[in-house]
Amino acid sequence: MNEDIAKLAAEGNLAASAEPHNGTAVESFATQAFPCPHCGQMLGPGVRVCAACRQAIDPAQIRLPVPQPQAPVATTVAQRAPEKPQNTPFPWAIFFAVLLGMVLLSAATEAKFGMTTTAYGFGLVQLLTSLWVVFDAHRKGIPQPLQWGVGTMLLWVIVFPWYLARRRQPKTACPFVESGARALLRIVLLFILINIVGMLFFGSILNSLPK
Ligand SMILES: [Zn+2]
Repeated sequence: MNEDIAKLAAEGNLAASAEPHNGTAVESFATQAFPCPHCGQMLGPGVRVCAACRQAIDPAQIRLPVPQPQAPVATTVAQRAPEKPQNTPFPWAIFFAVLLGMVLLSAATEAKFGMTTTAYGFGLVQLLTSLWVVFDAHRKGIPQPLQWGVGTMLLWVIVFPWYLARRRQPKTACPFVESGARALLRIVLLFILINIVGMLFFGSILNSLPK
């Protein structure tokens, strides 16, 4: 019963102290360290009797130290790394468009002219686009025109869309193709790998077809 009364009294006290005085008024016990209202001793949050002066702490009298306005941090210009060209992102949209067009076109030509003609036709398209890539890259000052051409010839479906994106963003880079002779080797190896996988894949499909 006494506790209830004490609680009510405390609540009344809190309500009365709601209007702020100087500093920051605290309505309940502080959640951070605060100075004792009587002697100024810094006390931990939730302390109700001052350890130094033994006075009961009235939460209404707690004044939290007003945070000092921080000195404006000197705005330093972000130290930039020496301009490094961004990489040309792989153009997935062009890639899928080209892939879809190729599949549809090859299906159509194959139905009309047969497989051999279609293969020669696509070979010719590959050769011509690769030559165009070499000349275009040379004309536009894009690094390694020859590697772009060879890459287009070997990995047409990947490198050609990439080149189309690259030529529109002359300030970017495409290390996969443009970083020296090793890239060319990588392209050739990837080409061989893709061919082997493709042959195994399509070979097994053809073999499983009913004759
Ligand atoms: Zn005190």
